[in-house]
Amino acid sequence: MVKVKEIFTSIQGEGPLVGYKQLFIRFCGCNLKCAYCDTDFDAKNAQEYTTEELINVCNNNGDCHSVSLTGGEPLMHTDVIKALGNNCKLPLYLETNGTLAENLTEVLDYITYISADIKLPSCTNMPPMWEKHEDFFAAAGDKYLFAKVVFDNNINDFEIHKITHLCKKFDIELILQPMMSGKFPVVNSEFMQEILDKCIKIHPKTRLIPQVHKFIDVI
Ligand code: SF4
Repeated sequence: MVKVKEIFTSIQGEGPLVGYKQLFIRFCGCNLKCAYCDTDFDAKNAQEYTTEELINVCNNNGDCHSVSLTGGEPLMHTDVIKALGNNCKLPLYLETNGTLAENLTEVLDYITYISADIKLPSCTNMPPMWEKHEDFFAAAGDKYLFAKVVFDNNINDFEIHKITHLCKKFDIELILQPMMSGKFPVVNSEFMQEILDKCIKIHPKTRLIPQVHKFIDVI
């Protein structure tokens, strides 16, 4: 049995696969405490599922592009991910904070897409995790992987240097995602453009993609 906070279908609202219909499985628990986190992944009021039940839900939603494993931190549930990978007809799309390299290694064969965060100390209020992210990207091998960076007005040049060189090293897309307050970014458009331009100079595979689902009022 595994505690799952919610299961629903919606569109992917972030990153390069934005707009695809997905089945979302939100797992409980996370190994981080980001200051901006607005996700309820508390095990309180969560529902318990057997892996067979989860597999059935996945296979009953065949019109979806993929199954988004989200949280919380889905990599805290590697046994469930393996079971889903072995039995689901849909590809698995992992939405992770990009810090649990060993757990990723366990499930890598079962995952098709990896959306991994790079956490900026300036907006998470967490200690730097550059080495953890680097280990994580190395563990992803040649999987379809991109890095997502939530930023606000406090992003600084040192962080820009770190995120661009990290993504350049692994030759992956860097997706800049302005932090949102309701339907709107907390940074203005000039600042977004400035940060995008600074990143592109170092790593041309940088894109700016806001959370689309928030301003079209989809979950
Ligand atoms: S890693 Fe994600 S789910 Fe966990 S605290 Fe940070 S924003 Fe929230």
